[in-house]
Amino acid sequence: MALAKLSLEEWIQAAAEQAVSFTDFCVDFQRRELDLTAEEVLARMEAMFAVMEESIAVGLKGPRSKGGLVGGDGQKLQRYLAGKQQSMLGDFIGKAVVYSMAVGEANAAMGRIVAAPTAGSSGVLPAVLFALKEEYGVNSHDLAKALVVAGAIGMVIASRASLAGAAGGCQAECGSAGAMAAGAMVALLGGTPAQVGNAVAITIKNMLGLVCDPVAGLVEVPCVKRNAGAVAQAIVAAEMALAGIESVIPVDEVIDAMESVGQSMHCSLKETAQGGLAVTPTALALTEKIFGKKL
Ligand code: SF4
Repeated sequence: MALAKLSLEEWIQAAAEQAVSFTDFCVDFQRRELDLTAEEVLARMEAMFAVMEESIAVGLKGPRSKGGLVGGDGQKLQRYLAGKQQSMLGDFIGKAVVYSMAVGEANAAMGRIVAAPTAGSSGVLPAVLFALKEEYGVNSHDLAKALVVAGAIGMVIASRASLAGAAGGCQAECGSAGAMAAGAMVALLGGTPAQVGNAVAITIKNMLGLVCDPVAGLVEVPCVKRNAGAVAQAIVAAEMALAGIESVIPVDEVIDAMESVGQSMHCSLKETAQGGLAVTPTALALTEKIFGKKL
């Protein structure tokens, strides 16, 4: 059964009319949806944070993935950045990118992660939230609220488009994760409900059309590095939105465009490992090496 279409624009308008922050609006929505108290909703989110934190720690130990294609790059970037006086990424983005790769690598090594929204894109949200915690001193209560906002954005995307690479390409996974992270960041940093919507829209617009082409059908290459890219896109979009830059195309229409692009994407580019990077000569040779035969 298809999910009833939700509207981020309607939620944004409702929050503005009620003169509440988008965070409070989302917490109240989730509380009613789950028939819980606000404290119980936030306690659930804090439990997820514990898993996210653990996945960052596991990834930073540099585990090798099951397919052997990834592992140790989050750790490598962390060491590289630690040895530099100044980096092009800066402290905040640098930390977030390190964490995103660490979680992606923990996932590829079969570590425990929070699928946010999927395992393949699980590095994006913990990356920005823990970087905010460490670089901006955000407390865990506010981070839990930001996670509720991210979840609400994910619900809208799931209802109007898809969160799965097999249905909508990587725009649906890493694109959605980036959009959820961007909206959560804006809400956390005091943005208006409309700015949350603009951050979501800008992120998805900048990641529209991204295909899902995992080498050897494993969630390793290009997935880990795409998480890092999605983090950068999310931060760029969040900062633009906070500066007052608006998306010309309204957010619900942007999400609908992602769905339409996903539907018109060829099936070879939707997690089947039959197109894109997955059929490059190097990818085919690696596939044969891993499985002892062509897929
Ligand atoms: S390339 Fe495909 S499997 Fe990898 S993160 Fe993107 S959607 Fe997921």
